[in-house]
Amino acid sequence: MTFTEIESATGGKITGKTAAIVGGGPAGLIAAEVLARAGVTVTVYDQMPSLGRKFLMAGRGGLNLTHSEEMPLFLPRYGDIDPLLRTAIEAFPPAALRAWADSMGAATFVGSSGRVFPKVLKTSPLLRTWLLRLGNLGVKVKLRHRWEGFDGDGNLRFMTNGHELSVAPDVVVLALGGASWAKLGSDGKWTDILAAQRIAMAPLQPTNCGFTAAWSEVLRGYAGQPLKRISLSFGGRSVRGEAMITRDGLEGGAVYALSSPIRDAIHQFGGTTVTIDLLPDVTLAKLSERLSAPRGKQSLSNFLRKATHLSPAALSLVREGALLKGAALSALNGKDIATLIKAVPVKLTGVQPIATAISTAGGIRFSELDEGFMLKRTPGIFAAGEMLDWEAPTGGYLLQATFATGVAAARGAIEFLRNPSS
Ligand SMILES: Cc1cc2nc3c(=O)[nH]c(=O)nc-3n(C[C@H](O)[C@H](O)[C@H](O)COP(=O)(O)OP(=O)(O)OC[C@H]3O[C@@H](n4cnc5c(N)ncnc54)[C@H](O)[C@@H]3O)c2cc1C
Repeated sequence: MTFTEIESATGGKITGKTAAIVGGGPAGLIAAEVLARAGVTVTVYDQMPSLGRKFLMAGRGGLNLTHSEEMPLFLPRYGDIDPLLRTAIEAFPPAALRAWADSMGAATFVGSSGRVFPKVLKTSPLLRTWLLRLGNLGVKVKLRHRWEGFDGDGNLRFMTNGHELSVAPDVVVLALGGASWAKLGSDGKWTDILAAQRIAMAPLQPTNCGFTAAWSEVLRGYAGQPLKRISLSFGGRSVRGEAMITRDGLEGGAVYALSSPIRDAIHQFGGTTVTIDLLPDVTLAKLSERLSAPRGKQSLSNFLRKATHLSPAALSLVREGALLKGAALSALNGKDIATLIKAVPVKLTGVQPIATAISTAGGIRFSELDEGFMLKRTPGIFAAGEMLDWEAPTGGYLLQATFATGVAAARGAIEFLRNPSS
């Protein structure tokens, strides 16, 4: 069965019931779709002038929707995964997300790294079709409606155009996102509202983020230069990929992949050191042999450039790495330089602000949710997406958990509408 058939066939139609979805990112929109297919009258509220802004931004990098790896490899990407999240992903796994994208005319393919992308490599056509589909299902959209909490009767309170509006739907799905890229709408201010309801939350923190480093002026001059095909190591884990030198530090795929333990170490110790293997495909023995050859009249820089084919930015990093170890590069022999190139230390001093992070760690603790993703303290109110307390690296894991929890919250809301007392 396709996604559309499954969601249209789950039980009989519900009539005369309303749902408010607060937050029109992918978690809110998939919840809206599932509820509308069940016959519920759905309204999506969002504070921005248009929906899905962060989803659109994700499309700039090709829209990595999910990952093709098997569940035993996939689930550990969420670290010590909460059973609720595990169940949600198992109930709406990568294959289901791909089937959904197919149903939207956005057929997907598996890239060389196992990541899954729509063939068009962007969000805009998919989002356009989705919003049309939701409109056809009767979903109403209220833009520029900022959720501000609850009124004296416990109804949802919105501000729109300077006016207050109270809404009393039968069920609510909160899908307000994290706090990264706040200019796209998810500003994390909902934490104040939920704290007033005594809902336990882990602090919102940047993840898949960059870090600051105490660069010299020379390295700052290489801002924007990539370090390609490197292996970054921290805390016993190594990740192959790419990093980018920024004016203040390092960012990029390999850095994001280890950002969670690096962030935690910086918070605990005020700084930490990662190591970079700049030539992971060349063995130490081979590199030592190359760098121990006589260099004749060549300058050290020329010799290293020709022997290693490393970029000027990478060689600068090696020089600074040598200084960090207490020696000038010119004082080292070939074997020592090879050893350094295979493990350049980079001292990271701080975490880049959440405003520039790809995603947010922290949020509503899973212990606050029942098995239908309903907030135990506020019956009839469900939560989904990045506002829940999970984190994962880039690679499609963020959108997969976002969609899966959106579907889980909607199915929980449907069950609640069918059996309000259970
Ligand atoms: C640059 C970038 C690239 C990314 N690339 C990828 C990728 O390739 N693959 C991947 O898996 N993930 C990617 N992500 C992450 C992914 O986009 C997010 O995980 C996902 O959008 C989270 O969905 P969400 O629905 O939970 O929240 P969001 O998409 O953040 O949506 C939340 C919505 O709630 C609204 N809102 C917030 N507060 C209020 C309020 N008080 N009142 C009313 N409305 C409110 C916001 O306006 C917003 O529309 C990327 C993120 C960024 C920033």
